[in-house]
Amino acid sequence: MTILRGVGGGPAVTSHFIDGGWTAPGGRTFPVRNPLDDGLVAEAAAGGREEAVAAVAAAAAAFPAWAAMAPGERQRLFLKAADIVDRRHEELVELMAIEGGASRAFSAFQIHLSSAMLRQAAGWGYLPAGDVLRSDIPGRIAMVTRKPLGVVAGFTPWNGAFYLAWRTFLLPMAFGNTTVIKPSELAPISAGLIHAEILEEAGFPAGTFNVVTHAPGEAAAIAEEFFESPAVRCINFTGSDRTARILGERAGRALKRMVLELGGFNPVLVLDDADVEEAVKAVTFGAFLHQGQVCMNSRKVYVARSLHDEFVDGLAERVQALKIGDPTDPEVIIGPLIDDRAVEQIDARVRDALDRGATLVTGGTADGRLYAPTILTHVPPDAICTTGADETFGPLLVVEPFDDAEAALRAAQDTRYGLSASIMTGDRARGLEMSQRFDTGIVHVNAPTMASEAALPVGGVKDSGWGRSGHYAIEDFTELRMTTVSGEPGRYPF
Ligand code: ADP
Repeated sequence: MTILRGVGGGPAVTSHFIDGGWTAPGGRTFPVRNPLDDGLVAEAAAGGREEAVAAVAAAAAAFPAWAAMAPGERQRLFLKAADIVDRRHEELVELMAIEGGASRAFSAFQIHLSSAMLRQAAGWGYLPAGDVLRSDIPGRIAMVTRKPLGVVAGFTPWNGAFYLAWRTFLLPMAFGNTTVIKPSELAPISAGLIHAEILEEAGFPAGTFNVVTHAPGEAAAIAEEFFESPAVRCINFTGSDRTARILGERAGRALKRMVLELGGFNPVLVLDDADVEEAVKAVTFGAFLHQGQVCMNSRKVYVARSLHDEFVDGLAERVQALKIGDPTDPEVIIGPLIDDRAVEQIDARVRDALDRGATLVTGGTADGRLYAPTILTHVPPDAICTTGADETFGPLLVVEPFDDAEAALRAAQDTRYGLSASIMTGDRARGLEMSQRFDTGIVHVNAPTMASEAALPVGGVKDSGWGRSGHYAIEDFTELRMTTVSGEPGRYPF
């Protein structure tokens, strides 16, 4: 991997990617560490306002030509990038393991989604550019045309770093915008720098994509330039609603458009006619992929009482078989949590529930940052992990029996989030009918809450955010221009 090939075999020293070149003018760096053992992965450039100014200027300068580029030309670039992603599969798996603690299963999921989305996006340049409208004025031609916004600035997260970074900048770029991204300081390579290498090799024009990295605690200076610069027309943030509120207030002052992909509480209903084995499989994957550190992980399962014990036994057996450890081992499914704060959060919530009388089915133990996948039952309603007031970003699942499916459907929505939900049932018509009463951006019948496809729109309602991925992102990343052309003499009142 070029970016990780350090001098003399040591850890790499990475730069920002600005205007098509690798640069680190300040010379300051910060360590990027392996969450498993704190091993040094790289020394990354610590940028600030100055680098953000340069990156935004480069993106603004590249915008007119990129916006005007023929769809077929952009298509060739996206398709080339998709092939590079596929070719670099093994290096990407290794990168995501050592920088983000991702298992092979999760990395492969992200790589597949990323190249699929690049191939989808390659065609979006050919989507209709607008509509021809009816006018009441004789002889008038009226139309709306979609045009790109300009520079879109993105904050990319550490968790599903590789795929979510593509989602943050590729969607705007596919509709003719240029971009600057600020990756999370916890995974700057898999959340942005590796993408710069890929786009550079694919031949994307200089300035169309820029990356500025920063040391922990120094995000605000870069963000300030995104808010202040008139060239930046939209901020695309993927992360927690806590940070989104800070950024949203700032965006309000700057009157800047935001697209937000935030957290979720993601309930699963297992109805009394469900296939228990299928439900066990879907919930194990949905709750514990990437050790529960994805916005779409399932957090709570409501199971018909008649199936409850069989479901919990089956789930415990399957979850206990998941191998925990160093994710560079291809057999490992559960790698480390991202940092000590994450371990403290989940552990405090498990203890809180147990102190209140919950039953521990499995898990509840930590070995360093390796937290065993944890299932709780009989959780009292006031325990933090079950209230839906805040997602627990880790491998913790609450299971609860229900007697009345309608009451369970209502209870499952008693949360401020509205990202994903799923219903497991043997009756697809019943599942479809109930699904339409979920107040979430996504609902799956007979699939996990975590079931992404590049072509399908992901996004939330309520505190889970605004905006959608897939080609629907055209709504978020373009403006409409209304144009009229009149041919006959005008009639005016004065
Ligand atoms: P956490 O990981 O702490 O839950 P998020 O997932 O919401 O937080 O995202 C953190 C991201 O937001 C990081 O990329 C971080 O650099 C950025 N960030 C945090 N605070 C600010 C701030 N005040 N201004 C701009 N960016 C910030």
